[in-house]
Amino acid sequence: MTCPKCSEAAAHRSHRVGVKDIVLGWFSQIPYRCKRCHVRFYAYRAGEKSDKMRSGEERRIMKIRRAIKWRRSKREIAVYALGLAAFAVVVYWMTQQTTPASGG
Ligand SMILES: [Zn+2]
Repeated sequence: MTCPKCSEAAAHRSHRVGVKDIVLGWFSQIPYRCKRCHVRFYAYRAGEKSDKMRSGEERRIMKIRRAIKWRRSKREIAVYALGLAAFAVVVYWMTQQTTPASGG
């Protein structure tokens, strides 16, 4: 990845630190760190992909990686849906418990 400050191709993916990195990650923005001037910046994941996916070997690795990620996210979605359902039940139960002051 090319650094926006010194224009050197010395930037590498940085570890996600803090809430900002996580939130930006939802918008496909990943943190990078320049090895030369140590500047930290964000770039779109798509930009990295198009640059990296040149050889067939890379494409194969990306495919496997994506499959693993999808499998993991599918489980996360299931857990999230279960939690949401439980929350809906609690909310429903609470609304049933409270009797409205004005009859409607
Ligand atoms: Zn730099």
